[in-house]
Amino acid sequence: MSSVQYLLDPDLVKRQQSAIEYVQSVCEDTLSVVTWGTRGSKDVCAPNKMHYGGNTTCWELRSKHFHPELKFYIDAGGGMQPAGEAAGSFIGGLLRGADHLVLIGFTHYHWDHIVGLPFTGFPFIDRTCFGVFGPKTGRIGPKEALEQGSLKKPFFPVPFQEIGHHFDFKNINQPTTIIGLLHKDVLGIEWIPKITYHHKLSNPEATIDIKRIHHNPEYRKKTKVLLRECVKIFMAPTFHPDSTISYTFEMPAGERFVFLTDHELQESVSQSMLQHIRGASCIVVDCQYKFDEYINMYTGWGHGCDKYVVNLAKQVQTEMVLLHHHDPKRTDSGVDSIANNVAKGFPNTLAAGDYGVIVVK
Ligand SMILES: [Zn+2]
Ligand SMILES: [Zn+2]
Repeated sequence: MSSVQYLLDPDLVKRQQSAIEYVQSVCEDTLSVVTWGTRGSKDVCAPNKMHYGGNTTCWELRSKHFHPELKFYIDAGGGMQPAGEAAGSFIGGLLRGADHLVLIGFTHYHWDHIVGLPFTGFPFIDRTCFGVFGPKTGRIGPKEALEQGSLKKPFFPVPFQEIGHHFDFKNINQPTTIIGLLHKDVLGIEWIPKITYHHKLSNPEATIDIKRIHHNPEYRKKTKVLLRECVKIFMAPTFHPDSTISYTFEMPAGERFVFLTDHELQESVSQSMLQHIRGASCIVVDCQYKFDEYINMYTGWGHGCDKYVVNLAKQVQTEMVLLHHHDPKRTDSGVDSIANNVAKGFPNTLAAGDYGVIVVK
């Protein structure tokens, strides 16, 4: 049985300092997640939004089961900028030639999930080994999202063509048919068909080859690792305009963490979504609206509401629900009020805030 804690000091300045110190320490947790950005739709800054903060989505995953020189982010909204700042010593190491990999998994490419990437050092350092994955919507996958979106003149002064040579991209075309695998001995990520994974599961000694991600082909060798020692990444499509992915991370001993943002929860939840979520130690869920706002104004906008989060939480076994993607208009007391609404139906509920840390042991 795992235990989950969400550390969110009431003092935002202290909290940011702790998050910086935390990502510079050695990770000994099963999984820990730094919540660099928890605001939805657009970055905000206002005196009455200082407790939860105003950075859009960027979450940093850390684990004793990851390679120690791996940096792993989900989404690169406004929170990616302070996340990149906090990675100063890591960037210093890569500039000196240390082994490293920066992985970014995108849920989708709306502005609030990509806008922060150009404001970190990573893309502009030739040495950076960059692995980027995300959904492919029509002709737009992660490469096109950067090339035609966040790194395109005249919207940003440095075009993607000048820096794209050190990126390794993976298009996720059918999220439910493949799974991602990470192992502490390899600076890479491998994607295999789910059917192959299920075949291998019956054999505790089953192995898998994971190829290193590196811009120099000479370093892209494969390493054989035990499947049972891998961190698995499962995916499911969300209900949102433009293809969007929810990620479930499963640790080697079975602890699960679900990231379900930009998803319009419905009154009933599909069996496939329940299966994707069930048994998670912690579920991060989009709760942008109150039920009356959702019904009267925002149906079809692709975001969740308090009443349906309660419905969902009651149907799955989880230790903690963490509300995410706060509306840009929502004040701190407004976020508290939504969290109270959910907590009446599911007591272990908290609202996520910028610079917090989830620890799963
Ligand atoms: Zn969003
Ligand atoms: Zn969106």
